[in-house]
Amino acid sequence: MRKQIVAGNWKMNNDLAESKKLAKQVAKKVKEGKIKDTKVIIAPTFVSLASAVKATKKSRVKVAAQNMHFEESGAFTGEISTKMLKSVGVKTVILGHSERREYFGETDALLTKKVDAALAHKMNIIFCFGEVLADRKSGNQEAIVESQIKKALFHLEASAFKNIILAYEPVWAIGTGETASPEQAQEMHAFIRKTLANKYGNDLANSVSILYGGSCKPTNAKEIFSKPDVDGGLIGGAALNADDFFSIVNAF
Ligand code: PEP
Repeated sequence: MRKQIVAGNWKMNNDLAESKKLAKQVAKKVKEGKIKDTKVIIAPTFVSLASAVKATKKSRVKVAAQNMHFEESGAFTGEISTKMLKSVGVKTVILGHSERREYFGETDALLTKKVDAALAHKMNIIFCFGEVLADRKSGNQEAIVESQIKKALFHLEASAFKNIILAYEPVWAIGTGETASPEQAQEMHAFIRKTLANKYGNDLANSVSILYGGSCKPTNAKEIFSKPDVDGGLIGGAALNADDFFSIVNAF
């Protein structure tokens, strides 16, 4: 059976003390809520990773990084490697977020390198992709999503997908308050699964978790997660409040 996953992307929010507090609150709620089947992940900024790992140590909450460099070390000012992430107990990384693609020029070719480096170092990846509004309006969304997935992932052996979580995030729904309807999410998730099946077969396609991201909130999570091909969510804004995040975790 596929894993149900709710991951919180904190983006460039929360200093060290705030991150520690929020990580503790999330861990406490997950423990008290007796969450068993849903995998819960939080992704603070680099400076707060070690402290978040410590704060969630006795819980089942896992900590992810929001980015990484593909080299292990060297003259790459401002960058962080897999080795460094692993040294503070982080084994999961978000790659391909639309904000990285848009504001930091991350291309499919660069993401391929990051994916390969993460897998080579036995990291788990939350791989994000999704169309912008113009693509959705012109009916091009499936072609865009298919190309993003193929370019960054389809050179991989099937076994690599054990360590990959996919996150469909329509860019027009990220941080805008506008959400894809549960039907739009289901339609795209089914398409993504079919794309995976065409390349790697049904068994693999049915084993990969596909998360939805884009203004997912306590008020809409339940309906979105009820769709058969939606295996959870990647949450931005609503992950910054422990109560909201927990009610999304609890939405399954
Ligand atoms: C995100 O950035 O991954 C995201 C889904 O953000 P938000 O929930 O704020 O739309």
